[in-house]
Amino acid sequence: MNLARVTRCLAVGCVLAAGKGLIGVDGARANSCTAAASRQGKSVLSAIKEVWRGWLDAVLPQTCAACGVWLPGGSVLICEACRLQITADSALPYCWRCGRTLPSAALHEEGCARCRLERHWNVAGVGRVGRYLPALRSLLLGLKYRGRERNAEFLADCLAEVLRRRGWLIELDGLVPVPMHWLRRLQRPCDHAAVLASALSERIGVPVVRLVRRSKHTPSQTTVAAKAARFANVRGCFALPRWYQPPWPKRDLRGRTMCIVDNLMVTGATVHEVAKVLRRAGAKRIYAVVVARPAAPGDPPTAWDPLASGTSVVQPGVFSGAE
Ligand SMILES: [Zn+2]
Ligand SMILES: [Zn+2]
Repeated sequence: MNLARVTRCLAVGCVLAAGKGLIGVDGARANSCTAAASRQGKSVLSAIKEVWRGWLDAVLPQTCAACGVWLPGGSVLICEACRLQITADSALPYCWRCGRTLPSAALHEEGCARCRLERHWNVAGVGRVGRYLPALRSLLLGLKYRGRERNAEFLADCLAEVLRRRGWLIELDGLVPVPMHWLRRLQRPCDHAAVLASALSERIGVPVVRLVRRSKHTPSQTTVAAKAARFANVRGCFALPRWYQPPWPKRDLRGRTMCIVDNLMVTGATVHEVAKVLRRAGAKRIYAVVVARPAAPGDPPTAWDPLASGTSVVQPGVFSGAE
C-alpha cells in the first residue's frame, strides 16, 4: 500500500484517496467527503432514531442481537460468545478470488481449485467477514427481514476491517450495493445491501454509487438451490439506466475501481451479473465484499481455531503454502 497517497478528511477523519474524487453521490463530489454530506442529510432521521433507540434501551431488557442472551447493563450489540465466533471465523484463511473459507493447503496463487476452473469470473477478488454461521446469520436475518439497522452498523465495521486487511481502500472509487427491485423493496423493511453500503461508506470515506438498477423481478435466490439455476435466475437482471452516458463526468465509470457490496454470497451469481454491468460501463477493476460466504457443497472441513488472529488470505504473489 502506498501510504503517501492516503489523505484524511478534516471533517470526520475518514481516509480519502488523493485524486480519486470523481464519482458523485447524491449530487455531491466525493472529494467533499461523502461521509459528512450523508450525515448532514440524515441528521434529523438519525436523531429521531437515536431517541427511539434510547427509549427502547431504557424500557426493554438488553439482549444479544445475534443469540438473544441477556446482556446485563448492555451497551453492546452482541455478546462475547457471538463476537468470538465472528472474530475467529473471520480469521480463517479463504480464497482471495471467490471468498470460500478453505484450509490453507487448498489455496493457491490462482485461487482455490474451483476458481482455477472458472475463468469467466468477473470479479477481481472477494472479501468476506465469515461463513454463514449462527451469529452472522442472525444479524443478517435481523437486518434483512426485520429492518434492524443497528446490525448494519456492526456489520459495516466488520466489512471495513475486511477492506483494510485486503488493502483495497487506497484504490476504491466507489461502493456499489446490489440493487433490489422496487417490487421486492415493497416486501422488505429495508434495502439491506444499500444500508450496508451506506454504513460502510461512512466508515471508509468511499462514495456509494447507485448506478446499477435491477430491471427484472425474479424469484428470490433463496428459493433456488442449484448453482446453474441461480446463475440463470439473475442473468440479465441488472442494467444501467437508459440515461447513462459515459462522458458524464460525475458518473463516468471508465477506468474506475468499484466494490460491490452485498450481505450474502452463495454461488456468486448475483455479484457476477452486477460486475458484468459495471464492466460494460468501463470499470477497470471490480471487487466484491460480502458479510457471509457459506461453505459450498463438497468444501473440505476447516478447523476453527478461536485463538487465531488476523485474517489469512492467500494473495497472488505471496503464497507461502504454509498452514
Ligand atoms: Zn450472542
Ligand atoms: Zn476460489
